[in-house]
Amino acid sequence: MMGETQSKNLQPKKTNITDDYKISANVLGLGINGKVLECYSKANGRKFALKVLRDNPKARRELDLHWKASGSLHIVNIIDVYENVYKGSRCLLVVMECMEGGELFSRIQERADTAFTEREAAEIVADIGKAIAYLHSMNIAHRDVKPENLLYADTSPLALLKLTDFGFAKETTNTMLQTPCYTPYYVAPEVLGPEKYDKSCDMWSLGVITYILLCGFPPFYSNHGMAISPGMKKRIRNGQYEFPKPEWTNVSDEAKDLIRQLLKTDPNDRMTITEFMQHPWVKRASEVPQTPLMSAIVLKEEEDQWEEVQDEMTNALATMRVDYDQCHIKDVKESSNPLLNKRRKKAPGLEIQISK
Ligand code: ADP
Repeated sequence: MMGETQSKNLQPKKTNITDDYKISANVLGLGINGKVLECYSKANGRKFALKVLRDNPKARRELDLHWKASGSLHIVNIIDVYENVYKGSRCLLVVMECMEGGELFSRIQERADTAFTEREAAEIVADIGKAIAYLHSMNIAHRDVKPENLLYADTSPLALLKLTDFGFAKETTNTMLQTPCYTPYYVAPEVLGPEKYDKSCDMWSLGVITYILLCGFPPFYSNHGMAISPGMKKRIRNGQYEFPKPEWTNVSDEAKDLIRQLLKTDPNDRMTITEFMQHPWVKRASEVPQTPLMSAIVLKEEEDQWEEVQDEMTNALATMRVDYDQCHIKDVKESSNPLLNKRRKKAPGLEIQISK
């Protein structure tokens, strides 16, 4: 099943999960929405991860998109979903590939020396890019690409890095406008295409992750230890970041060029995933110079600040999702579109009709 697109819609099995899997008491991790446990297939003994979600429309939406995306090597694939009553409430039990290699940056931090090179960073970034390219080609924006959601399949040096957690994923095609009764011959591209903003969140994330991989600290950080201070928000908006010495001294100009294109403040100017995959530093990642980086040392030295770095990225992404949602939903009452003004004169009750 892996490696091919799961085109069919998700249809959770109604049979009991324990018919097919043995559930272990071992907790792999705790999420906001529930526990992730270890489980074993009764058919072949293989180990999987089991995420238990309360059955509700939000969980269904998350799983629907995660299921659709479960064809890529660089996405934590869903194997099975069951709809069972668990401890008295209706639950969705999600069997996923078990990621035993831990989070991306924990693994780099463990190597606290300069053996981590620019080439390795480029190869990691290219792999994350493949996951995002796969999603964007299916018109899915992940919108929560951050260090905690990038996990290694196992602890071997060749382990695959995969993206998980579709809690904020969004389908970017406006299916409503595609239904026959809304055939949008006359609709402007920006109405059909707010998808661009959702996808550009993922590109911003790629920029931040690339930056951290190359130096060990984030491009934007607050000065007050407060999660996303007004100052930091302003710096993000103005795109104020630097490539300070000594960490950036030996990093290639190609890498810096890529970051500049990913961290563009205006989402319209930001690189798309197609452009990203074509950028020489990504496309020819295996030929990038093996320049030793300071990232692993910095990550180790600043280990106690890592949680704050993660919180800031979480908050910045949340702000971005809200801002982008607002920036393309214009309140009709505030619009001064000349055609609308003309119609307002003709039909004064228009607003009331629209807001119904
Ligand atoms: P939430 O969306 O509720 O935050 P996550 O999907 O991020 O939940 O999972 C919570 C934690 O469980 C993760 O941080 C990770 O440690 C662990 N986990 C999640 N999925 C897997 C998996 N497929 N294999 C192993 N551990 C996992």
